[in-house]
Amino acid sequence: MSWLQRRKDPERHTRTCSFCALAREHVHQLVAGPDVSICDRCIALAGAELDPRGWPAILAQLATKLPAGATPAEALARAACALAGDDAAGLRAFADRLVAIDGVPHARALIAVTEALSALGAANLTARDAGRAAMAALLAGDLERAAAIRPATPAELANRGWLIAQHQVALVRAPAGSAAIAPLLAAVVDLHRDLDEDDPEALLDAAAITEAYAHVRAGNHAVAVKRYAPFRRRDDDPMRPWHALALGDALDGVGDWLAAREQWVRVAERAAWEPYWPAEARDRLARERLPYR
Ligand SMILES: [Zn+2]
Repeated sequence: MSWLQRRKDPERHTRTCSFCALAREHVHQLVAGPDVSICDRCIALAGAELDPRGWPAILAQLATKLPAGATPAEALARAACALAGDDAAGLRAFADRLVAIDGVPHARALIAVTEALSALGAANLTARDAGRAAMAALLAGDLERAAAIRPATPAELANRGWLIAQHQVALVRAPAGSAAIAPLLAAVVDLHRDLDEDDPEALLDAAAITEAYAHVRAGNHAVAVKRYAPFRRRDDDPMRPWHALALGDALDGVGDWLAAREQWVRVAERAAWEPYWPAEARDRLARERLPYR
């Protein structure tokens, strides 16, 4: 049952959170309004005070802000934007919370918050905001938007985090076998090498996985399989859908069809709110050479 269908169920809002769809028994508190319900976790995520006395007013505002067809997280983001008003710091704090949560619904929510920040005045959109929104659009399979999100001031186009995001977007968009892949790859690896702040290990991982992806795009499947090896079975940090899809392509390229199928099934089952990557994975599965499905 889709989220929209569930919304039409008149009893539903008394049983589940309208935003995260968690049932009453799975949250600490659920406040039910006339059209919409919200759990304590989503209230906190929306950046509102946790004082339950304030919740009815918040619900009344949220009820008018649910766009048709939006994912719960995206609806929550738009509601949070409405609650935050013209408070850029509040919106950025909400974006910080969304960044920490993996998954396509939250990626879409992050894009919604970024758009709200931008709407307050282009000057609000820093390279950091734009870079992570571009990565979120990439995760959501919205490649056009990923390429279009830009920081406000030209000087910020030189920001390294922003450049990494843009190069990764370009790598995902480059056609397989394209001559553009090699220089993009070299640039991404260099950008990561120079970044020694924050978390060097995570950055090196990001560079390695980007390199593996580029090898798939360039048709070097055996090299790609080898480069992806350390990331294949890490449950704590599941690969982004485009990487899992690319790993499947690489495995298929070296004839390891069972393992390829496993990756594609993983992508097809993930990211249920966004059609792009699962559709790509299902396309691979429909064309696979295995005698069974
Ligand atoms: Zn919730």
